[in-house]
Amino acid sequence: MKKRYTAFASYMLRNSFGATLLVLACAINAIAAGNPHMLPIPLEERIQQSGLIVEGEVVSKKSFWDARRENIYTSNIIKVYKIFKGELKAQELELITEGGNVGLDVHVFSTSLKLTPGRQGIFFLNDQNVLANTPAAGKRSTKAYGSQQGLISYDIHHNKATDAFLQFSSIESAYSAITANTKISYRILRQNEKLEQAINVKNQKQSSQLAPAITSFSPAVTSAGTGTVLTINGSGFGNTRGDGSVEFKNADDGGETYTKPYPREYISWSNTQIKLYIPSYGQDQGVAGSGVFRVTANDGTSVESPTPITIEFAYSNVSVAGVPVNKNGTFKPTLVDKDGAGGYTIQYAPSMLNNIPAQYGFQRAVTSWICNTQVNWKIGDPLNQETTADDERSVIRFAPDSEVGERVLARTISRYAGFRCDNDTLFFLDEFDMEINSDINWQYGPGGPTNRQYDFETVILHELGHAHQLGHIIRPREAVMHFSVEFDKTYRELSAADIEGGEFVMARSTIPNACDEPPIKPIPASECNIFANIINQESEYQAGGTVEIRWTSTQEDGLDYYAVERSSDGINFTEIGTVDATGDNSDYVFTDTEPLPFRSFYRIKAVYTNNDNRYSTRMTITDPEARNKVILTPNPTDKAGKTNLIFLTESSVTVNYQLLDISGKIVMDESVIFTDAMAAKELNLNNLAGGIYILKWSTRSNSGAIKIMKL
Ligand SMILES: [Zn+2]
Repeated sequence: MKKRYTAFASYMLRNSFGATLLVLACAINAIAAGNPHMLPIPLEERIQQSGLIVEGEVVSKKSFWDARRENIYTSNIIKVYKIFKGELKAQELELITEGGNVGLDVHVFSTSLKLTPGRQGIFFLNDQNVLANTPAAGKRSTKAYGSQQGLISYDIHHNKATDAFLQFSSIESAYSAITANTKISYRILRQNEKLEQAINVKNQKQSSQLAPAITSFSPAVTSAGTGTVLTINGSGFGNTRGDGSVEFKNADDGGETYTKPYPREYISWSNTQIKLYIPSYGQDQGVAGSGVFRVTANDGTSVESPTPITIEFAYSNVSVAGVPVNKNGTFKPTLVDKDGAGGYTIQYAPSMLNNIPAQYGFQRAVTSWICNTQVNWKIGDPLNQETTADDERSVIRFAPDSEVGERVLARTISRYAGFRCDNDTLFFLDEFDMEINSDINWQYGPGGPTNRQYDFETVILHELGHAHQLGHIIRPREAVMHFSVEFDKTYRELSAADIEGGEFVMARSTIPNACDEPPIKPIPASECNIFANIINQESEYQAGGTVEIRWTSTQEDGLDYYAVERSSDGINFTEIGTVDATGDNSDYVFTDTEPLPFRSFYRIKAVYTNNDNRYSTRMTITDPEARNKVILTPNPTDKAGKTNLIFLTESSVTVNYQLLDISGKIVMDESVIFTDAMAAKELNLNNLAGGIYILKWSTRSNSGAIKIMKL
């Protein structure tokens, strides 16, 4: 299939415009198993849309915050060898990519061009002037056209050039494909010695060396990023690894390229046996995927595995520049209780709020994950602004093609915070944001896609898998986390492997961690038993200090009554009253005369005459009297010395707080950002002596002090 497409591509380039259109349709069919996040951008279009096309090499990179501290970007310095289009005065330029890490703050985009020093290829670039004062001041600053499709990447040792959709039989043929279109030959700015040397070495090696051989490997069915060890038996591997490697098909591009593990992933290497961890984050930031893997000995000779390995799921690991890895492998980020109600509150930006079918599709995808892995996600109050920033909020929004990335369907941004505890560094998922391309022809469901529509629920289910910390795999039509989705197709059910992956992440996330970050709390199974015939449900504080709960039914076949349930933590609910069902399309009101202090969760249980029941989704409500001030509860602390600092706000507020002992000495000095989706921060006083302490707190507009008794 790949070869066919390559042929189409070169045919396409050599023909007139009319012929191009015809062949393009076939080409799209040929790569129907395309990328999950992207539609292909023909080479011709990339050439037209880029102001500068160069052959270059990444020589260094440095991540930085934007001026408003909303997003982390990476400044990559590219050494330029050849120019295919455009003018360039200097021999180096800056290429800005999205994501990266600054200290222990990490942003990972599910689709973005990811570069590492040493990477060579042909870059499709345009000048960027959105970001000022980038790290490479004085150098021409650019961004790639078409996100990942802005680079045709080289494998110089095998003389191959590939991108997410195209595979060229040699680097030279990539040159011809471009020059055939630009109608000018490239200019050499300086010699690409590494490339020339690699091709020469390859030519000399072909006859003389004795290749390594693989006799067996285990396990044959496994996972990536989970600490699983792969054992490979055979001969001719060489007594030491040296420059040798075991490379896996890269699941991020469906196996077009290979991904190479970091040296630290190798456990042992002898002439007859290799042991290594299967990585979900290689040196090139790729994910180990299913397919034949390749062993290369120190002398450069290599062999492919006789049978493919199957990687059923990948746990997204992070690797962080400048942070030493002191246990095995890269960091395995965990999910935590960010919202004080067990997990993460997802909020719609206005662009989502204006699209009701999209909300239903999104809700269905969220429910699929919750009901299978019990991940603690809930849909919270909507926002009144379009933000995708490091702001402690998990925001879902539509954004134009130019912002999400040219032809990118959707992307998920995972934002992590790292902490050093007990001589280890741990990373936690702080929030995730999702940007959905508003220029795509979506089918929101429940009907299926037609006429080259993309199925919204399928893509969201996949993106939510990234938010769940699952990476790509290569398992066509077998799993949601397969790297690709096809137009006109739906995959709205999680596979056993997707669920196993999600459960693995949950199992690691629910155990206590050395940093004392509150672990995520699995959502109760009853949340999956959703009653779809309740609409317009809302809860509201009344002047007299009561809470009014209102809802409307659509259809009540066999329904007996409704029970209203209330909870302080969003997990453990108690029934507080009932209302008889009065027939289809009825409006109901229930008044809670004694609401819980600060914040309450409500849900409605629909009870049938046969005692079967279903639940509404949850509602959260905060007491207006309790807003914008610090509350400590429980006070005194519990027996373990823990209490919660609660701050209820409808915006985003930084709370600075200090804990002072009775002599006035500061024993704790911290700050936390609270939002409408993040209301509680656990305070752990267990290493302090019992007695009275004073918590002094301040925000920009308010301050106070509270006495707290440590038991
Ligand atoms: Zn994806």
